[in-house]
Amino acid sequence: MLDRYNREINYLRISVTDRCNLRCHYCMPENDPCLLRHEDIMRFEEIREVVGVAVSMGVDKIRLTGGEPLVRKDIVDLVSMIASISGVKDLAMTTNGVLLSNYAASLAKAGLHRVNISLDTIDPVKFRSLTRGGDIQKVFKGINAARHARLEPIKINCVITESPDEADAMQVGSFCRAEGLQVRYIPKMDLQLGHFGVVDGGSGGDCGSCNRLRLTSDGKIKPCLFSDIAYDIRITGIRKSLEMALGNKPEKGTINLSNCFHNIGG
Ligand code: SAM
Ligand code: SF4
Repeated sequence: MLDRYNREINYLRISVTDRCNLRCHYCMPENDPCLLRHEDIMRFEEIREVVGVAVSMGVDKIRLTGGEPLVRKDIVDLVSMIASISGVKDLAMTTNGVLLSNYAASLAKAGLHRVNISLDTIDPVKFRSLTRGGDIQKVFKGINAARHARLEPIKINCVITESPDEADAMQVGSFCRAEGLQVRYIPKMDLQLGHFGVVDGGSGGDCGSCNRLRLTSDGKIKPCLFSDIAYDIRITGIRKSLEMALGNKPEKGTINLSNCFHNIGG
C-alpha cells in the first residue's frame, strides 16, 4: 500500500507487551513505569486479526517487539499463529536475548524467521549497569541458541550515544565480525524531545524511505514513532485504523508525547 507521499508501506511492527525483564536507562524508568492494565493488553486473537487485515492490505513483513516479547506468556503460540497467515513473508523478533536460549528452538519451529538482539556493550559490568541488573552471559547464550536454531541473519542492535566510533560500539562491532553477526548502530533517541537519527546498517530513522506502521501493546495503530497520532483498533476498528494511519502518516517524524519506547517498541 502507498501512503500520500508515495512510500510503499509493507511493514508492521507489533509491541506484544510493555513489560520487560531489563531496565535499560534509555528506555525504562527504574521503578515500574505506568504499566498497562492486563485487560488493556491485546489478546493473541486481536493481534492475529490485525496481522490478517494488514496482510490483506499489502503488509508482508512483521516484527514482534516490546517491552521484551519473550516475557509475554505463550509467545511461541503467537508466533505460530502469525506464521500460519499466508502472505507473511518475513517474520522477525527484536529481543534483549536474556531468555532466548530457552525459546530459540521452539520459536524457529513455530515459524519465526530471524531475530535482532540488543547489545550495546560486550563488557559484563557495563552491561549490568546499563540494563540495571542484566546478565550478559545469558545474552551470549541466547545468541548461540539463535544461531543453532538458524534464526538468521542475526542482527545486533547497538544503541550509540555519539557515533559508531565510540569504544563500546567498536567492541560490539568486532564481536559481531568475529561471530558472523550483522551490527546495526542505533542513535540514542528521545521521543519527547524529538531526537532521532538514521540507523546505521538498518532502515529506521530515514523518513523519506519509511515503510512501516506500528501496533502498540494496547491496540493502537501508529503511523510514526515520532508522532502522537494513533488509532485505537477497539474503537475505530482494525481496517479503518490501518487506513487512517496510512492516510495520515506524516512526511517526517516530530515528537511523541504519548508513548515510551517500552510500550511502542523501538
Ligand atoms: N526488549 C527488546 C530489546 O531490547 O531488544 C525489544 C524492545 S526495545 C524497545 C527495541 C529496540 O529499541 C532495542 O534495540 C533498543 O535498544 C531500542 N531502544 C530502546 N530505547 C531506545 C532509545 N531511547 N533510543 C534508541 N533506541 C532505543
Ligand atoms: Fe527492555 Fe528492550 Fe527497553 Fe531494554 S530496550 S528496557 S530490554 S524493552
